[in-house]
Amino acid sequence: MTSHSDSHTAFALPPALAVPTGDSEPLSQRAFPEPPHAYRSEFARDAARILHAKAFRRLAGKTQVFSRRAIESDHSRSRLTHTLEVSQIARTVASTLGLNVPLVEALALVHDIGHPPFGHAGEAALDQALRAHGLGFDHNLHALRIVTTFEERYAGFRGLNLTLGVREGIVKHSRDYPADRFPELAEYLLNQQPPLEAQLIDIADEIAYLTADLEDGLAAGVLRLADIDDQLPLFSGLYAEARQRYPAAPPRLLTNEALKQMLNALVTDLMQEIAAQVKARHIASLEDLRHAPHRIARLSESMEEHRRQTKAFLYANLYLSPVLEAEHDHAVEVIQTLFNEWTADPRLLPSDHIARVSEEGVPRAVADYIAGMTDAYIEQAWQNHLR
Ligand code: MG
Repeated sequence: MTSHSDSHTAFALPPALAVPTGDSEPLSQRAFPEPPHAYRSEFARDAARILHAKAFRRLAGKTQVFSRRAIESDHSRSRLTHTLEVSQIARTVASTLGLNVPLVEALALVHDIGHPPFGHAGEAALDQALRAHGLGFDHNLHALRIVTTFEERYAGFRGLNLTLGVREGIVKHSRDYPADRFPELAEYLLNQQPPLEAQLIDIADEIAYLTADLEDGLAAGVLRLADIDDQLPLFSGLYAEARQRYPAAPPRLLTNEALKQMLNALVTDLMQEIAAQVKARHIASLEDLRHAPHRIARLSESMEEHRRQTKAFLYANLYLSPVLEAEHDHAVEVIQTLFNEWTADPRLLPSDHIARVSEEGVPRAVADYIAGMTDAYIEQAWQNHLR
């Protein structure tokens, strides 16, 4: 018989797997050395620097899935509220597993800071525009440039001067860059796995948006409850349970109950699977984790199948739906046209962006300008163009 506290600590990992806190630790180092703060850890300072950055505030004006053009709603997620939901989920996982919570918070807050306006359509359009110049757009690498260069708040250095641990997590958020093709990223230990604090952000991100997009898609009238109930057995099982428990509740509240339980089931499974992987692979130290053959923050096989089903459902019924396809076409037209116009005559850029042309070249400087924009800002530029 296990007590409640025993079953809770069953998730806790060996303490040696958490990234250590301390100003002499390698991952706490900054490019420009700074004296330690009197009472805040280095990662807590980083989380605060990100929270206070201009690029962070602009997330409020960037599309997550639904732009204001596509749907007039005060309730659908922006990239900012999505980011806060990822932070909530990731902090829960980190504190339950006994990982470094301030590091996880910093990584969650920064994870989407490199996203251009118009959601994923905007990112694809910007990438496409740069390809004509032999370049490409990558939101992880763009986020790294924001925090190392573009944010100007401090008199002593450019950028936010974040710790190596946070910068490594930004670089390794969602993909692995081969060391031989990215020599400029050598300081980020590309041949090693990232710590668990960084590994879990990617999956917390997915848990957050898969459940939220079902909710926002229903609220927008693009998704139908009957289709979700039909095609997603994880959801329909939880919806049936909720209906049994609250027979008089309206479908809207039963849906919320089911989505809440779905999020809970995904998060619980993630923690169980991480704990199981650590045990099965005899991972006892951060070094073991870093030299494991692959990342271990993932869902169990059966829950992974639910994740795949949910994602496939959202692609088929929401992300590629006619209402969002029209948004996609608009994003491509606006970004491609403005990119071409400004690339042809970079004197049209604001002076601080013109100043970057000699360092970055015209196409990159134009892309950086566009990537920093909110949806409303680029729409205004588009209206000026049409005049
Ligand atoms: Mg995200």
